[in-house]
Amino acid sequence: MPASVLYSGKDFPGRSVLVRGSVYETIYRLEEAYWGLRTLTKTEARKTFAWLRSRIAAGTEDILRRTEYDRLATGGYRDKKTGKYVRVTYLKSLTGEPGGKHPFMLLCSVLRMAELAPDLARTLKDHFMVNEPGPKGRRPHMIEAGMYCCQVCTPQYERALRLAAPGLYRRQEAKFIANLKAWRERGGGTRWYRAPFYLTVLALHDIASKAAREELQCVAARVSPRLPAKWSGDDRASRAKAKAAEILLSYRR
Ligand SMILES: [Zn+2]
Repeated sequence: MPASVLYSGKDFPGRSVLVRGSVYETIYRLEEAYWGLRTLTKTEARKTFAWLRSRIAAGTEDILRRTEYDRLATGGYRDKKTGKYVRVTYLKSLTGEPGGKHPFMLLCSVLRMAELAPDLARTLKDHFMVNEPGPKGRRPHMIEAGMYCCQVCTPQYERALRLAAPGLYRRQEAKFIANLKAWRERGGGTRWYRAPFYLTVLALHDIASKAAREELQCVAARVSPRLPAKWSGDDRASRAKAKAAEILLSYRR
């Protein structure tokens, strides 16, 4: 498996969310805008979505055609069975933790503003529902158990599922939350065993159901109030972690 990367964003000056030189940088910036780390006007959102739509490549794992920068900055691997070189990106999440499956990130950004780009929203949603385990998916038994594949990916999958198929999410939420509770117990109450901490905080905050909020309250009660101060660095991952820590502390009662 190739190592995953976190784009620093420093190759692209300027504050705009749309970066025509990189699909992935654009996805990161959309996500940053959602968490209040960047501004995004409706006009710019429309422009950004129109550009992303022009890069849709059906049938690829990424669903988007990467730019030259993306190709050079990220790699792939040689499939042992077929001998073919498979071009894929293992992008890190905004917090620098693993688990940032970027089609999930992008899907969330677009679905939240679906009225600005109905076509793109539909295409990404269809891709998600068909290619990721869903109602007709590859691993329905795991999904019914509230588990996508592991502790790293599951909160991100559930976050995307809640937006793409709210009814399906509701049906499996109890099991997903039961899994989280078990991981929290294994993690000593202050973290979820094997789950990327900050990314999971952001996913639960985004899901925002009663059960997700209660889960955050349980952890928030046990972490240090100085948690955000730990991440004072001026880099992408630190800014995102500080934001997630701040959000978590807002659940203290
Ligand atoms: Zn996984």
